[in-house]
Amino acid sequence: RAKSEGGNGYSFFDPAMDRAAREAMQLEADLRSALVRGEFELMWQPQVCLATNRIVGAEGLLRWHHPERGLLAPGAFLGAAEETGLITPITAWVLRAAARQGAAWARLKGGGIRVSANISPSLFRQADVRGLVAAAIDEAGLSPEIFDIELTERVPMDDLEKVAATLRELRELGVCLSIDDFGVGYSSLVYVKSFPVQRLKIDRSFVSQLPENHIDAAIVAGVVSLGHNLGMRVVAEGVETQEQLDTVRALGCDEIQGYFVSYPVTASALEQRLIEADAPVHGA
Ligand code: C2E
Ligand code: MG
Ligand code: MG
Ligand code: MG
Repeated sequence: RAKSEGGNGYSFFDPAMDRAAREAMQLEADLRSALVRGEFELMWQPQVCLATNRIVGAEGLLRWHHPERGLLAPGAFLGAAEETGLITPITAWVLRAAARQGAAWARLKGGGIRVSANISPSLFRQADVRGLVAAAIDEAGLSPEIFDIELTERVPMDDLEKVAATLRELRELGVCLSIDDFGVGYSSLVYVKSFPVQRLKIDRSFVSQLPENHIDAAIVAGVVSLGHNLGMRVVAEGVETQEQLDTVRALGCDEIQGYFVSYPVTASALEQRLIEADAPVHGA
């Protein structure tokens, strides 16, 4: 089309770019209807306390049952959600779903388990984060102490002081805060210094080569020491083997999460496990 208009064969019309633009628009339209049609689900990955070998928490991980493309992980659509502003209503949904699940498990099991939800740093630019979290816990009737908000440090944050102020408001609500993917961001230590968090989740890239990689072992030991000096709990992410579990335990981590304990599973599958297990976790 563009070529026939141009004459000399040169044109700014780029079919590949056109296709990408159409796909982006389609993704945005699909994301909008996903909220309306209820196509999102949280999968749950347990977190085990290494002192007691029991499940003490679970992280809600977003999945999208796309009508044509099947089950999508967040990597396939969160970027688009952030660019279009849809991350705000999606996060509102995630927070509500996580809080409701946490309240249900608290009724099932005395005291319940801690439930964690992820929020994107870009949310602080566009949403009333405190309002979203407060609405979620109020509606669910969830005790805020067992609600944990994970904030990734993978993405740089522009207005650190504003984010820190919002996090202090969240603490006033009584919820817990964690720094996610700790160690791979741009300013890990600045975040530790500025943010009122209770937990550090060591990125799985520092765990995956344990026990052989001595640099990673030194980094994990260092993060444990930093966290403990500040009264924080330290969680090792991405634990896939018994050897990794033994190593992060020996290095002083408080909790683990990863395929070795469980893949992310449906709420009912985790619930089954919570009912069966007041038995210790296999291998831990
Ligand atoms: P994350 O918060 O660090 O979550 C852990 C990710 O690592 C999950 O991928 C999980 O399935 C995967 N994982 C867990 N254990 C293991 C393991 O032992 N080995 C390996 N190789 N991987 C493991 P997932 O579900 O694809 O999520 C990717 C990221 O997307 C999350 O990383 C989080 O940053 C983001 N995300 C997930 N759900 C939400 C959400 O509701 N809102 C926002 N804003 N971000 C979310
Ligand atoms: Mg997380
Ligand atoms: Mg994580
Ligand atoms: Mg991670």
